[in-house]
Amino acid sequence: MRARRYTVKSIFPTLQGEGHNAGRQAVFCRFTGCNLWNGRQADRGRAVCRFCDTDFVGTDGPGGGVYASAADLAKAIVRCWPGSAKPFVVFTGGEPTLQLDSRLVDALHDAGAEIAIETNGTRHVIAGVDWICVSPKAGAPLRQVSGDEIKIAWPQTALDLDDLERLDFRYRFLQPIDGTEAAANARLTLATCQQRPAWDLSLQLHKILGIP
Ligand code: SF4
Repeated sequence: MRARRYTVKSIFPTLQGEGHNAGRQAVFCRFTGCNLWNGRQADRGRAVCRFCDTDFVGTDGPGGGVYASAADLAKAIVRCWPGSAKPFVVFTGGEPTLQLDSRLVDALHDAGAEIAIETNGTRHVIAGVDWICVSPKAGAPLRQVSGDEIKIAWPQTALDLDDLERLDFRYRFLQPIDGTEAAANARLTLATCQQRPAWDLSLQLHKILGIP
């Protein structure tokens, strides 16, 4: 297998703020780059995904940088884990499937870690990831159609909840889109969950708590 480098925006300990694992301690590894927006505000209006609330450009966050090997990156991630229990590592981005590979998965498993991913679902997740969360985006192809949880930023009225409900996920969440319409989106998301009991409400706990 060809050696590769990993471009990382930040690595930080926090709580998983969203979905089924909300409240669980985790180390987040945020990869640089996404396939649905280049991250530049000037280009947001032309992007497939336009409501992103994340800075995934560059390598200037805590722990950010270009890592020369899976072993180096795994070491940096595990170093952020507080305590002796099994590290819970969440790969996010940007779009983490652009960079997460089996070398990194193996290196983290060798270090005793449990691995989760937050993906937009446009690419298949490699084997070995322990927890798959897919967050489909309207207008983008959905290729990863099974996993542990599906979490939809809401409203995205071009997405068909009936279709998404039939996919093979154990847990389903609707989560209000943040930003200038956050309050209205929260009301609408709550109302949609109340009308559709297959979907649970996810709030962004890290934002409520003011943590990264
Ligand atoms: S797919 Fe995710 S990371 Fe990419 S632009 Fe959309 S919300 Fe942001």
